[in-house]
Amino acid sequence: MDSYNKALETILSTAVTRKITSIKLSESYHYGLAEDIVYDMDMPPFNKSAMDGYAFAQQSLLASKKLKLAGKVLAGAPFQGVCQSGECIRIMTGGKLPSGCDTVEMQENCLVEGDNIVFTAEKKLGQNVRKAGEDITQGELVLTRGQRLSSVDIALLASLGIADVEVYQPIKVALIATGDELKTPGQALAEGDIYESNRYFLSAMLTKLNAQVIDFGVIEDDFNAIKQAFEQADQQADVVISSGGVSVGEADFTKDVLDSLGDIAFWKLAMKPGKPFAFGKLSNSLFFGLPGNPVSALVTMYQLAVPGLVKLQNALPLKRKTFQVVTETDIRKSPGRQDFQRGILSVNTQGKLSVKSTGAQGSGILSSIAKANCFIILPQMQGKVAAGELVTVELFDDLIV
Ligand code: AMP
Ligand code: MG
Repeated sequence: MDSYNKALETILSTAVTRKITSIKLSESYHYGLAEDIVYDMDMPPFNKSAMDGYAFAQQSLLASKKLKLAGKVLAGAPFQGVCQSGECIRIMTGGKLPSGCDTVEMQENCLVEGDNIVFTAEKKLGQNVRKAGEDITQGELVLTRGQRLSSVDIALLASLGIADVEVYQPIKVALIATGDELKTPGQALAEGDIYESNRYFLSAMLTKLNAQVIDFGVIEDDFNAIKQAFEQADQQADVVISSGGVSVGEADFTKDVLDSLGDIAFWKLAMKPGKPFAFGKLSNSLFFGLPGNPVSALVTMYQLAVPGLVKLQNALPLKRKTFQVVTETDIRKSPGRQDFQRGILSVNTQGKLSVKSTGAQGSGILSSIAKANCFIILPQMQGKVAAGELVTVELFDDLIV
């Protein structure tokens, strides 16, 4: 059996950089940025007022609390002259600080006396002024190549005046479910049938990852049907993901088909759930063969395939949040495989974070994930864990919740 870490390493070293394309900033949400963004000017580009009020040189106020009103600034309509000593300028929020001024007083603290403004409170130098470069200084690295563009990243790029952005082209992923017993929701179940569920979480996760899904549906357990589906999937997609048929049962032709189409390794992994798992290259695409059991399929997708897909989309490596916390429940485990058990992380009565197992952990029990908010990750050689001991938990990211 290979370890989970070794399998992950193999996947990450096989998944290589994607093509780069240029798109409009407004369409770039969740794309992987393919360039470093270094800004070529200060942000904001000039000193500006943070308040509606009056701008002046702070020195002027030392001589007199009364300054002569000499002009007006609006956001986008700067004052053209120079503010002299003993003068002040009416200014609105976002207005460019006139030359000769270094400080702003808000209008609520001022009295208007004809052409003069009387200042009632002391002002510190530079008060209520947003300094040029206080957000970003010229030459600063704003965003890093490989980073997945968030909503705030896009706003930041817009504030820098960037209209088009270089991104990694999203990958196309073909989904194939195999099994004669699988019916789609809406169809009637014959005796022995079950509803197919893996494609549902798979396409939801892939959509969240910004990949383009090509759904091949459920393919019957027939050598030629499976071969045809895999050949088409390989031609149309960058990645093919199948579920079921990797554990060499009697009716599973997936392995035979894959052996004839590419260079695929069939692993028996020392992880639980998810012992059978296939990975390799077809002639055009990368292939991930998930086990059929829904829990095994979900956990191997999340813990093995997704890091590879993220690398292919060329976002920076996934960083998921892990903590060491006390378990409130006993946890059953025997040494030999790395467990990804499901848990509920919450704040206990002492105000500390702790975890509880969701109970039965069978690889068909999908509700064990639906109830959970984290994985309890138990090392390969670990045995059972007693309540009160420390365990490592990994919070689910937004692919699951
Ligand atoms: P297999 O890996 O094909 O031997 O399947 C293992 C178990 O998972 C069997 O009980 C299958 O019925 C079930 N299974 C396989 N594929 C799916 C799927 N796409 N959705 C739900 N259950 C599945
Ligand atoms: Mg099957």
